[in-house]
Amino acid sequence: MKVLKFGGTSVGTAERIKHVGELAATSACNIVVLSAMSGTTNTLVEIGEYLYKGNIPGAQETINALETKYAAVISELLDTPDGRNRASVAIGRSMAILRSFCRGEFGGEDAEKEILAQGELMSTALMEAHLLERGLRPVMLPALDFMRTLENGEPDMEYITDRIRRLIELEPDAALYITQGYICRNSQGKIDNLKRGGSDYTASLIGAAVDAEEIQIWTDIDGMHNNDPRYVEGTRPVGTLHFEEAAELAYFGAKILHPTCVLPAKLANIPVRLLNTMAPEAPGTIICNTVPDGRIKAVAAKDNITAIKIKSGRMLLAYGFLHKIFDIFEKYRTSIDMMATSEVGVSVTVDDDSRLSAIVDELKDFGTVTVDRDMVILCIVGDLEWHNRGAETSVLEALRDIPVRMISYGGSNYNISVLVQASDKLRALRLLSERLFAGNEND
Ligand code: ADP
Ligand code: ASP
Ligand code: MG
Repeated sequence: MKVLKFGGTSVGTAERIKHVGELAATSACNIVVLSAMSGTTNTLVEIGEYLYKGNIPGAQETINALETKYAAVISELLDTPDGRNRASVAIGRSMAILRSFCRGEFGGEDAEKEILAQGELMSTALMEAHLLERGLRPVMLPALDFMRTLENGEPDMEYITDRIRRLIELEPDAALYITQGYICRNSQGKIDNLKRGGSDYTASLIGAAVDAEEIQIWTDIDGMHNNDPRYVEGTRPVGTLHFEEAAELAYFGAKILHPTCVLPAKLANIPVRLLNTMAPEAPGTIICNTVPDGRIKAVAAKDNITAIKIKSGRMLLAYGFLHKIFDIFEKYRTSIDMMATSEVGVSVTVDDDSRLSAIVDELKDFGTVTVDRDMVILCIVGDLEWHNRGAETSVLEALRDIPVRMISYGGSNYNISVLVQASDKLRALRLLSERLFAGNEND
C-alpha cells in the first residue's frame, strides 16, 4: 500500500481533479490524501478574518464567491445528475457551516478551525463524486475520525494507527481510499489542523500508521530542485536525498516539502518520493536512507531571521554563560536556529521575533546586546561529513562578495548555514548555484 498526497495546485481545477483521479486510480488499494483546491484555504482564512472583525457582509460576500467557484467546478467535473447532486450536497454542507458563523455564532479560534477544515472536506468530496462517476469504488476515510493530536500538539500515533487500520479493515474491497490532508482533532476532540502546508505531514503520519511501502508527495514540480526555482533560473531536480538532507532543506525554506513531514517517514524508514502531477513520468526525488556520496545536493533560504549578539560583560565565555542565555530563550518559548560562539560572546538567530523585546531586555543582564533584523539563512545541504575536503571552501568562495554575518558548520553531517542580509539573498542564491552546480549533472 502506498500513500499518495496531492497538493492544492494538483487539485486546483476540475481538469486537474480528473487528471489526479486518473493517476490515483492506476494502482490498487492506495490511500490518497488531498489538500484543499489551491486558493481555498486562503479564502477561508479571509472569511475568518472578516468574522473576527465582525464584518459580516465581508464574510458573506467571500462565501458567495467561493460557492460560485465550486458550482462552476461541479458542472465541469461531473456529468451525471447523480454525481452533480452528490457533490452539490457536500459543498452545500460546507457552505451552510460557513454561513452559520455569519449569524452571530462565531466563537473565535474553534470556529475558525472549523472554517479552515472545509477546504479539504470539499476537495475530497469532489474527488469521491468524480471517482464514483468513473465507476470506481473509492472509500472515504474521514480524517476527523482518525487524525488526532495530543495535549502538547504532537500527533497521537497510537490512536491514529489503531483507528485508521480499523477503518481500512472495514472496507477491504475498496479500489482506493481517500482522505483529507491538514485537518485533525485535538486532544479535546475539537476540529483542529496541522498548520499551513500540513497535508504533507498527514501523508507521512498515515504512511507510518499503515506501514506503507512508499509515501508520494505529488505537486507542481518534478522533485526537490538544487536551488529555489522561484528565485534562481536553471535549477535541476535532485534524484536522491537522505532523510536528514531533506529535513534540513524543508526546514530552511524548500517549500516543496513541509518540514514536519520528514520525521515520521524517517523513523518508520519509509521512502518519500516527490513527484510532478503535470509530468508523472519524471523520476522526481526519492528521499530515503541513502549512502553518503560526498556531494553538495541543494541550497535553500529561510527568510525573516533576526540575529542577536550577546557580548559577555566579563570578556570571557565563562562557565554557565550559555546556559543562562538559553534559559531566557526557553522561558519565552523561542527556538534558536543558528549559533556561533567566540570567547567574548555568542550570536544566535531566531525566526520568531514576537517576544524579542522581552528576550533582549533579560539578555542585557548578561552582556551587551546587538540585534540585526531582516536577515536570511542560506542553507547548503549535502554530504558534509567533516573529512570531505573543500565543501566549505567552495561555499565561501561563492559568497566572496557578499557580507556574511554568521556561519555555522559541523552541527550535523549535512548542512552549512550562512547568515546574510535579506537584500543579498537572491544574489547569494544565484552565486551558490553557479559555483556549486553549474555544468554538473547533479543526478
Ligand atoms: P503543494 O500545493 O502541492 O503542497 P507547494 O506550493 O507547497 O505545493 O510546493 C511546491 C512549490 O515549492 C513549487 O512550486 C516551488 O515553487 C516551491 N519550491 C521552493 N523550493 C523548492 C525546491 N528546492 N525544489 C522544488 N520546489 C521548490
Ligand atoms: N490546505 C492547507 C493549506 O493551504 C494544507 C495544505 O495544502 O497542505 O495550507
Ligand atoms: Mg505544500
